[in-house]
Amino acid sequence: MKILQLYEKRLDGWMNAFGLTDWRYDVKFDPECPTSDGDVHYNVSARWATFKIHREVKAKEVNSIALHEVLHIVLAEYTAQAETVFSVPFLAGKEHAIIHRIINAMGVK
Ligand SMILES: [Zn+2]
Repeated sequence: MKILQLYEKRLDGWMNAFGLTDWRYDVKFDPECPTSDGDVHYNVSARWATFKIHREVKAKEVNSIALHEVLHIVLAEYTAQAETVFSVPFLAGKEHAIIHRIINAMGVK
């Protein structure tokens, strides 16, 4: 299975697992992804997300990348509210600390 198809399959699985069935999204390769292997941009009120993944990632990395990006959607409404009070860089650090704790607790590699 190709990386983009695998990513979409894993995203579908995690979005369903977290009950995010009212969201729609597309999936793209991102040649940039400067800081990580995956990325997501979203609009909370539109319930729309664009998930990206770097073309060079290995198949065994795709599941944890998909989980990481879906956890951004899990936290999206909270983050959008918090951004009205706190700075985006501050929140990004806090958000990633939460995401890493959840992924570690789930034992997803
Ligand atoms: Zn992230």
